[in-house]
Amino acid sequence: MSLELTFLGTGNAFAPTRYWSSFLVNDKYLFDAPPTLLPHLKKLGKDPGDIEVIFISHFHGDHFMGLPFLLLEYAELAPRTKDLTIIGPPGIAKRVESATNMAFANVFRKQSRGYDLTFVEVKDEKGGTAAGAEWVARKVPHVPDLESFGFRVKMDGKTLAYSGDSSLCDALVSLADGADVFVSECSCWNETCGPIHLTPNNILLLRTKISQHTKFILTHIGAGEAPPAIANTGILIADDLKTIVV
Ligand SMILES: [Zn+2]
Ligand SMILES: [Zn+2]
Repeated sequence: MSLELTFLGTGNAFAPTRYWSSFLVNDKYLFDAPPTLLPHLKKLGKDPGDIEVIFISHFHGDHFMGLPFLLLEYAELAPRTKDLTIIGPPGIAKRVESATNMAFANVFRKQSRGYDLTFVEVKDEKGGTAAGAEWVARKVPHVPDLESFGFRVKMDGKTLAYSGDSSLCDALVSLADGADVFVSECSCWNETCGPIHLTPNNILLLRTKISQHTKFILTHIGAGEAPPAIANTGILIADDLKTIVV
């Protein structure tokens, strides 16, 4: 089977023209949940009720603050029937409950009716299975005092790796090497945003360390056109509301 990656947004937290990053795989597996999640699902005609597993890389607002809106949708407008698993950093259940309570009183309690909502806390190099996906998490270095994770997930017969937000590290190589596709952040488009994200030069170095058959797709991008270093390398750059099939 193939993986259909639908990019709901491809920008970093500050991107002037792109929306915040998130992507959906085969309509069933969601990677990160920015505040623009729900309108973008609807714009593309995707049924939010089809999502069965949500992977949250870390607790920056552009990666998880869409969950209160999604849970509101399930509680008020489109009651879901399939169970839902949300996989994320330690504290994921409390974090989502408090964000949802802050945004929409009573929704968190209400939405647990009618389907099972399961939270799974990740640990470095540990994994599990959810709705047919076999996953493992790796801790990646992002900002101080906040745990950030990348994922490697086998689903529908293929393997996808996702960097989350990360700076350059060996964990990214072990996540991505041998995978069919590696979706990587590349927030520092112009190489100047410091050591908490990846730069185009970091990406080129990773490209040399990861098996050649692994397709690279960049997301979580800043302002401006693709840097020349990336052009003609075969590395793909995701676009908002566009799909890439692997
Ligand atoms: Zn981010
Ligand atoms: Zn971040």
